[in-house]
Amino acid sequence: MTRQPILAGNWKMHLTKRKASALARDVAATQGMATGRECMVFPTFVHLDHVRRNLKGSNVKLGAQNCWPKKEGAFTGEISPYMLRDMGVDVLLIGHSERRHLMSESDALIVEKVKLGLKAKLEVMLCVGETLEEREANLTFEVLARQLKALKVVKPIYFDKISVAYEPVWAIGTGLTAAPETAQKAHQECRRVIGGVLGPEVAGSIRILYGGSVKPDNVSALLSQPDVDGALVGGASLTIEQFGPILQAAPSA
Ligand code: PEP
Repeated sequence: MTRQPILAGNWKMHLTKRKASALARDVAATQGMATGRECMVFPTFVHLDHVRRNLKGSNVKLGAQNCWPKKEGAFTGEISPYMLRDMGVDVLLIGHSERRHLMSESDALIVEKVKLGLKAKLEVMLCVGETLEEREANLTFEVLARQLKALKVVKPIYFDKISVAYEPVWAIGTGLTAAPETAQKAHQECRRVIGGVLGPEVAGSIRILYGGSVKPDNVSALLSQPDVDGALVGGASLTIEQFGPILQAAPSA
């Protein structure tokens, strides 16, 4: 089964409106209408519309970093997936480790977000990953299995709308990229667990991205692993000098 790689930039709470728009234009110019790989960017909510306009004419997808799992209502300060869809968003990032750990998002809340995001006709990228303490206590696979259970709510009509980002918390923003073989072991386990939750066909077709200090000089080795289907990139997605080569990287031989 060939899985088209996804290269995604998570811009977190960075950039100004002008810088995000300029970066979107540069990403669009680099990716253009290239086929064989998918590209997506996740700007902060308030930059979504500007970024959308600057991606026009390219096939770069527009992503949002979060949502609140209600269609509408009295939820001051929150944003519905339906509003995001209405705004032209294609993809929703759910369960990023910064949301799990800094904003205390629970597995139960993440399940609701996955469910409503898909219902709102958005693609969903579910982030999973263990902390350093969990890895050292040999709990990595247990944590991944627990977090991947959120996919249980995905109905067959949405099977091609989901992807997973394996992001070990200890590798995010630290410069401590997982060794390609370490990433491969975790990805293989994610795929095995997904097989149990959604069946072998989905396990074979779902894209599982690696995230955690991906840079131009380590992306090829990661992409060369059989179960690594792309990269979710934080810091190195904030300049075209770094993100450009990542978008164009090929798996190493
Ligand atoms: C991320 O935020 O998803 C991420 C992987 O960040 P970084 O690439 O900076 O480690």
